[in-house]
Amino acid sequence: MSGYSDRSVAIVGSGPGGMYVAQALLEKAPGCKIDIIDRLPSPFGLIRGGVAPDHQKTKRVDQKYTQTITENNNVRYVGNIALGRDVSLNELSAIYDSVVLAYGAPYDNKLGIPGEDKVGVFGSNAFVGWYNCHPDFKDLSPNLNISTAAVIGIGNVAIDVARVLSRTPMEMATTDIADYAMTDIDAATLKDIYMFARRGPLEAACTNNELKEMGLLDAATTVVDGSILPDDMPESMDDREKKVRMRILDTLKVLSQAKANEKRRTVHIEFFASPIEILGGERVEGIRMERTKVESGRCVGTGDTFDIRCEMVITCIGSRAEAIEGIPFNERSGIVKHQDGRVSPGVYAAGWVKRGATGTIGTNRLDSYAVTDLLIADFCGEKKPGPEKLNNLLNERKLQSVSFDDWLIIKMLEETAATAPSPRKKFSTIEDMIAGLNAAR
Ligand code: NAP
Repeated sequence: MSGYSDRSVAIVGSGPGGMYVAQALLEKAPGCKIDIIDRLPSPFGLIRGGVAPDHQKTKRVDQKYTQTITENNNVRYVGNIALGRDVSLNELSAIYDSVVLAYGAPYDNKLGIPGEDKVGVFGSNAFVGWYNCHPDFKDLSPNLNISTAAVIGIGNVAIDVARVLSRTPMEMATTDIADYAMTDIDAATLKDIYMFARRGPLEAACTNNELKEMGLLDAATTVVDGSILPDDMPESMDDREKKVRMRILDTLKVLSQAKANEKRRTVHIEFFASPIEILGGERVEGIRMERTKVESGRCVGTGDTFDIRCEMVITCIGSRAEAIEGIPFNERSGIVKHQDGRVSPGVYAAGWVKRGATGTIGTNRLDSYAVTDLLIADFCGEKKPGPEKLNNLLNERKLQSVSFDDWLIIKMLEETAATAPSPRKKFSTIEDMIAGLNAAR
């Protein structure tokens, strides 16, 4: 056995950030015992609850994560156990040599403008969680029997939201969208979706593949004003950036040829527009936007405003992590305070809790491997008791954790309940997952 067989690490969060730490530990600290603790019975974080239901190919990375757990005896999944609720950081630090915080960034950033608390304003995490059957958001019940929705932001999450709101049941047949969400989206009177970007086409935060999909929808047209699209790239832009931006611009030019109202729904992409107030009484009745210009890459208000009538606003402006008691937190950036991933002796951060909500799934790999290198280099001194001690603590507290074998049963129940070609019909509550599991065992 290797030199690491008496070491143990707890990873809190089983999304990409945490799973790549587990993979890195398996490669670089063979023999080390790894517990992956997650507050939900279902593993893999954003892969299940965040990635759009019509991006099933992206979700397939869960097969690799599954292998990481099932093919290695030293790796355990401990689901349905929440840091801060069921077990504290101090307790984990007393049990494991190292603790890696990788619990993601599930809270929506706020616009900080008047009217943000009106009925009909939703953050993207809540909205995406609703159509993805996330137990925290299944009761969101957004009213889609409206004429117009405003989506704030033009990142990939904003594109996901606008696209899913525009899809037909036929287009979503091969997905795992929540049945209740598909029923509401299909029955909705929603006609127009405005996507507001506070900067210009050259600064759009989305990627080209995602933008392109907006031109390929069966029952929705995406339109953009062609007159604001530049012909050339700024001289100051480097060649690599020019290439990326040119592709996005080309896609926008194609979209600018389309006409509004030709299909059931129209998505209007509106650049240089920043929200300054959400209008209405108790409920959203409109949104006041300010025209902007871009100076040295920054968004600057012009003072000119315009109003759009809408009955729903979905903010897709980025996410922040949870500030858990006892964990140093940077309120301004919404991440755990750390130095290159080191939070405090024996405690590390990985994934979005460390970097903020940016980058692709693959970005997490490099970052998690780098944090794992530090963690291994820091191993020293007294060895901690490890996983057995966690079992004792959970038993004392009468907490039912969900093992990976348990999860595979829940997964099988979801797959069996699906109507082909949908891959799974997700449970939407933790109680239903546990009840299904207990009945099947
Ligand atoms: P994002 O890429 O950071 O986009 C946020 C958007 O919100 C930007 O357009 C930003 O504008 C805007 N914004 C921020 N604050 C604002 C404010 N106060 N008022 C108006 N607009 C505001 O974030 P995201 O879309 O949540 O995505 C997070 C990460 O996940 C990204 O790296 C994304 O690529 C990734 N992701 C990838 C996929 C995929 O690959 N298919 C899918 C989903 C998410 P500025 O640019 O002007 O700041």
